[in-house]
Amino acid sequence: MSRAFNFSAGPAMLPAAVLLQAREEMLDWRGSGMCVAEMSHRGKEFLSIAEQAETDLRELLAIPADYKVLFLQGGASLQFAMVPMNLYRDGRAADYLNTGSWSKKAISEAKRFGEVRVAATTEAERFTRAPAQAELALNPDAAYLHYTPNETIEGVEFPYVPDTGGVPLVADMSSTILSRPIDVSRYGVIYAGAQKNVGPAGLTIVIVRSDLIGQPLPGTPTMLDYKIHADNDSMYNTPPTYAWYLAGLVFRWLKDLGGLPGMAAINRRKAEALYAAIDQSAFYANPVQPESRSWMNVPFTLADPKLDDTFLAEAKKQGLVTLKGHRSVGGMRASIYNAMPEEGVQALIGFMQEFERKYG
Ligand SMILES: *Cc1c(COP(=O)(O)O)cnc(C)c1O
Repeated sequence: MSRAFNFSAGPAMLPAAVLLQAREEMLDWRGSGMCVAEMSHRGKEFLSIAEQAETDLRELLAIPADYKVLFLQGGASLQFAMVPMNLYRDGRAADYLNTGSWSKKAISEAKRFGEVRVAATTEAERFTRAPAQAELALNPDAAYLHYTPNETIEGVEFPYVPDTGGVPLVADMSSTILSRPIDVSRYGVIYAGAQKNVGPAGLTIVIVRSDLIGQPLPGTPTMLDYKIHADNDSMYNTPPTYAWYLAGLVFRWLKDLGGLPGMAAINRRKAEALYAAIDQSAFYANPVQPESRSWMNVPFTLADPKLDDTFLAEAKKQGLVTLKGHRSVGGMRASIYNAMPEEGVQALIGFMQEFERKYG
């Protein structure tokens, strides 16, 4: 058996320790005689798994008591609709920051439900930086402000949390959740598809302040109303049980590493090493302004794009896979989420230097 270093933007690597534990428990979860995927979501075994996962997530992120944690389906893309359906109020407009491909999708979906004001955009600069707080033209009467703290495709990350006054702040944290500590009390809603930094695809985490729940737009389907899920502990219908269980194992793994401060120290080292290797070379380039560079997704180009295919093929031979950049951006992208070990980043850097010596 050999495990590749998988730099995919998602679904992404999972910690080997988590997969080994899942294998260990596959046929018989702790004397239950069942795989977790075979359990009733209403049985005491699965309820204990679900509750433990929520407790551990709350502890990792220090989630205040007045926030609900929902374990949903539909991906971050469904939250592009659920957020406006649940948060638009009294015909007021919503503010959106347009900082990359995922922001754009969130904006176009919100427009189906209400008025969108774009409070800042970096599109003219091809999304190569996060706008500064002083550039945000915020509406103090907005129903909410939506932004994307980490733009997965462009590799742009906000180095600060926008100050909105009293307006609820909504964050699509799909590709940055759990990568470092955050102050949950700054946010009204945090959501994330699990398949980048939490667990397998099929699970979506939503953390929502309780006072924002319960006033959906007229006609909101039952399944898209946060209140239904909050009142039913995310078990109004069958939740993604196995993904929930695996996410719980990931939360445990993070706690064993020293929680988010420990994870953040590792992530910072990985990102700094990779950007340093790119910046020190005339052969590789990253277009993002240094203060806005993502810790999680590192796009880079080769001096000669004709070498891209050779780079990918030779990297693959070294067990360094899924480095191809997003089709909209081209070049390469190394996603170095929590589960990417430091040795994986070091192996990539070594390969890049060797490749440059050979072809540069
Ligand atoms: C991957 C991603 C999405 C889309 O997630 P799905 O779960 O596939 O819907 C949305 N936003 C960001 C920031 C992402 O990284």
